Amino acid sequence: MLSQNSPIAFRARLPEKVDVVIIGAGIIGISTAWFLIKNGLSVLVCEKGRVGGEQSTRNWGWVRQMGRDEAELPIATESLSIWENLASEIDEDVGFSRKGLLFLAENEKNLKEFEEWMEIAKQYQLDTQILSASELGKKLNYTEHRWKGAMYTPSDGRAEPFIAVPAIARAAQRAGARIIENCAARTIETQAGAVSGVITELGAVRARAVVCASGVWSSAFLANLGVSFPQLLVKGTVVRTSAVSEAFSGGAGSDKFSFRRRQDGGYTLSLGNYVDHYLGADSFRYFADFLPALKMTWSAIRLRYDDGLLKRLFPTRRWKGDEITPFEQTRVLNPMPNPRVARKIQQLMASNLPILAKAQIKEVWAGMIDAPPDFVPVMDEIPNYRNLFLATGFSGHGFGIGPGAGKIMATLVQGKQAKFDLNRFRFSRFSDGSPITPGPAL
Ligand SMILES: Cc1cc2nc3c(=O)[nH]c(=O)nc-3n(C[C@H](O)[C@H](O)[C@H](O)COP(=O)(O)OP(=O)(O)OC[C@H]3O[C@@H](n4cnc5c(N)ncnc54)[C@H](O)[C@@H]3O)c2cc1C
Repeated sequence: MLSQNSPIAFRARLPEKVDVVIIGAGIIGISTAWFLIKNGLSVLVCEKGRVGGEQSTRNWGWVRQMGRDEAELPIATESLSIWENLASEIDEDVGFSRKGLLFLAENEKNLKEFEEWMEIAKQYQLDTQILSASELGKKLNYTEHRWKGAMYTPSDGRAEPFIAVPAIARAAQRAGARIIENCAARTIETQAGAVSGVITELGAVRARAVVCASGVWSSAFLANLGVSFPQLLVKGTVVRTSAVSEAFSGGAGSDKFSFRRRQDGGYTLSLGNYVDHYLGADSFRYFADFLPALKMTWSAIRLRYDDGLLKRLFPTRRWKGDEITPFEQTRVLNPMPNPRVARKIQQLMASNLPILAKAQIKEVWAGMIDAPPDFVPVMDEIPNYRNLFLATGFSGHGFGIGPGAGKIMATLVQGKQAKFDLNRFRFSRFSDGSPITPGPAL
């Protein structure tokens, strides 16, 4: 995994002026840059650490439509089409293939949930289907499994996070985008209520628009501007195995265990719905906003207390452009994996997928996921800050939808109308008195 000791791969001179500054070089920021540069705008991407260094290279690599919030679904479908053509368009591999994804039913309740979601699948003409236990056995090459059945979407896919994000960044760079690592954006500058530039640790840049695509750091960046954005962080632990022969070429998972075939012949494994949340000031600050989500995900979340962690990450919520900020203090958020989760994955490997009995664990890592209270992202302009856009809160499922979201952000920044209904993703939903309705999953 990337860390602050990884060599710098993206350098450029800080320009005096660009059309758009993007803060954060994850899949969202880089995809936005790609679509902006293709539209002829000048773009600077400031990355405090390394391109893709946080969530965007630490994820499972699922590129899915299945099980999504209804408002996200058409965007995810378009995103898959973008993924499909990306390698030929950028002339670099991104590890994408439509190998299908499976949601595995541990019990009758899961099967009922799948049946309910099938209504949405039908409405959007998705190729999703319910598999019986024996049909699933054939798909997995493993008949003695414990699952009651599955929901299967053949047109869903997988991509290689560690390969894809730097590859898209290189393509954007070749097309003229400036991408600078070790370049934290400290704050923005404004004139008459509109964004006029960004102050980075390397100096100031004038810009007509700014996109904050800062993942888990977005809430802190906005807090410094006096803008409240409820966002909490949870940590997921992931395992990579050595190469083994293929059982299923896509991804599959239940709330107990998940696996995804990798291009290198190994599997990416996780415990399904199991995340750690570290209690900190924001947990209490946003407690009321998160109550509906908490009720829904309580069994998946383990509360942790680490005296130093959150204070280290967010030592202050206010700073000026000439001060060192929390962004420079943590170049790459590289949290410790949960050793209990890693052990449990190891114990469960062979019983979940017999082929894994022959696999060795090659790497264990963790990633911090950003989530707003309803588990769907914000893609919007910030009220009272004209031309400051926010694209964040992708809640554990932003990798697959990333290129589609980037295309939307590029459209919004150019003042054009997106072809999707973005009402569900508006920034004001947390303050306009609307009820908070959590999407299907974290
Ligand atoms: C364990 C795990 C499993 C997941 N599995 C999947 C999956 O299978 N499928 C899926 O679709 N999604 C998955 N996700 C979610 C997905 O990875 C994220 O939703 C997505 O990567 C978010 O992208 P991003 O660009 O918004 O954020 P990030 O990738 O976190 O990028 C934000 C970037 O902004 C930079 N930054 C922050 N503040 C500043 C600043 N002030 N100045 C400069 N730079 C700054 C950060 O350093 C970071 O590089 C998973 C996530 C995790 C952690």
